[in-house]
Amino acid sequence: MPVFSCPVCKSGLERLSAVYRCRNGHSFDIAAQGYVNLLPSDKSRANAGDNAQMIAARSRFLNSGYYACLKDAVAMCVLKAVGKSGKQPLVVDAGCGEGYYTAGIADCLAAHGIAASVSGIDLSKRGIARASKRYKNVQFAVAGIFNMPYADNSADVIVSIFAPLCDSEFRRILKPSGTLIVVAPGRDHLLGLKRVLYDNPYLNDEDKYCPQGFRFINSQRIKKEITVKGEHIYDLFTMTPYFYNTPAGAAERLKDINELITPIDFIITELERL
Ligand SMILES: [Zn+2]
Repeated sequence: MPVFSCPVCKSGLERLSAVYRCRNGHSFDIAAQGYVNLLPSDKSRANAGDNAQMIAARSRFLNSGYYACLKDAVAMCVLKAVGKSGKQPLVVDAGCGEGYYTAGIADCLAAHGIAASVSGIDLSKRGIARASKRYKNVQFAVAGIFNMPYADNSADVIVSIFAPLCDSEFRRILKPSGTLIVVAPGRDHLLGLKRVLYDNPYLNDEDKYCPQGFRFINSQRIKKEITVKGEHIYDLFTMTPYFYNTPAGAAERLKDINELITPIDFIITELERL
């Protein structure tokens, strides 16, 4: 079964040696790093999505293990969810960035003897290039979540971690009874960072997400305190939305500290497609 579908005509894409091709002759080159760009050509822009600085910072931070507890928890949720699937389940990471969590899921499933297809998409070509160079157990494509390159009713599990949500696409590509796993920040997430940046830091809202066509199964909170050191403090800041809307003077304060103690607080919500 093909993992990807053609962004032009929606039929399945067959993987040949250096291209993906559909039965209508649309073809998409496989890059040297192993990923495929499935953005419609008129929308294909080298600089879409996260920029190089953000991606490098996020890679340094994540690869240092600060969010390993989230990676492990998400992988366990996926493992539980594919338990009810048939053979070779398809797991899609929608908005996978540089593939840190995607690879964690693939590693966990492989370690438990499950022959899954794990696939990640992101609008950022730089992020996907980095992901596919580093992680060979995931099929990566440059594609947006509002036009996902997967067939109707093809995915067993979709994972969305701090990424935009597209209810209609999630509904379309998930199989009936498939699982949607959404990770969002909890109330106290990065409060320590915000205390350095702002005089009156606000707490995050915890909106319950359960779009039409889905049934709430379960949610869990993953919360702990981390000590972020050295350059990783500014890396963490670069990953957050605060990077864009914090006055320069406040951001400078982060460069004067060598150690930042902050809670990390994630909500993992599991939904079932009806
Ligand atoms: Zn086609």
